[in-house]
Amino acid sequence: MKAELLAALRNAEDYVSGQELCESLGVSRTAVWKGMNKLKADGYQIEAVSNKGYRLVESPDLLNAEELKSFRNTAWAGKEIVYYDVTDSTNIQAKRLGEEGAPHGTLVVAGRQVAGKGRRGRSWESPEHDGIFMTILLRPEVRPREASMLTLVAAMAVAKAIRAALGLSAEIKWPNDIVLNGKKICGILTEMNTEIETINYVVVGIGINVSNQKFDKEAASIATSLALEGGTKIHRAKLIEAVWEQFEAYYDSFCRERSLSGMKAEYDSFLVNKDRQVRILDPKEPFNGIARGITKTGELMVETETGIRLVSSGEVSVRGIYGYV
Ligand code: ATP
Repeated sequence: MKAELLAALRNAEDYVSGQELCESLGVSRTAVWKGMNKLKADGYQIEAVSNKGYRLVESPDLLNAEELKSFRNTAWAGKEIVYYDVTDSTNIQAKRLGEEGAPHGTLVVAGRQVAGKGRRGRSWESPEHDGIFMTILLRPEVRPREASMLTLVAAMAVAKAIRAALGLSAEIKWPNDIVLNGKKICGILTEMNTEIETINYVVVGIGINVSNQKFDKEAASIATSLALEGGTKIHRAKLIEAVWEQFEAYYDSFCRERSLSGMKAEYDSFLVNKDRQVRILDPKEPFNGIARGITKTGELMVETETGIRLVSSGEVSVRGIYGYV
């Protein structure tokens, strides 16, 4: 009821009358009135004017299932939403749901993670109220080796959503980081459960630093948050919705083409290291070169003295010559 009431207020261009709300939600006048009072108690500013009705003036940056559902405007992403105030890691929960048969598009969101993960078992700082911690469960009909491209699809969606919703110039550090002014604001961790030729499920976890003011030792020199980079009035639930709206469009193109050809040019234009010197930290053999963009299957093209080398994600990290980018 709360989610429906919020959605009705949000979707109204102007005031929405009590009568209209009763009819569209199929509840009594008293129920609407009580619902409004609950919303006000949660911190929503609602204006009530006689003969006109109700108008939502401002929403607090709350994160909970109702808030997330009230913003939902996607076709399939987040059709099922599982919200935790605290969890170990949204990837762990999404994998569990994947095992239990949860549908494609199920979205897990947490207010805080106590065991947030990055690649290669590293940890992801996930303090309460400060960030977005979420994972989507996907059941794509592509081959296992094609699924690693989903990290790039997600990176594209996050960068685009931050640009569109907040006007900040988010860039991508291939393959799985989003950066603002050269510092990391988002990490993406894709994990999958596959048979030889088929995928059981893929989970794509996204951590975005929203209002963090400081970071612990390991991340301190490379991390930043949207707030630190000038983002104002950031509403996490709204930004989450913006990410999945973008994701759906890029994901559909990826499934159609079974490649990134539909977004390659745009991805390259977002690439923070494009045409710059990079160091590829390949555990077997690190090397330097100039990043020239991605292939349509998501490898990074690096120009070296001996020609173009294609770098696959997996175990590799990319750095600038003098620092993180
Ligand atoms: P690399 O560029 O080295 O390949 P990565 O993108 O694979 O890194 P992840 O594994 O995604 O990195 O993230 C884990 C790393 O990110 C940690 O080792 C830490 O340095 C850093 N980190 C941890 N928490 C945060 C955070 N909230 N914001 C930004 N960076 C973080």
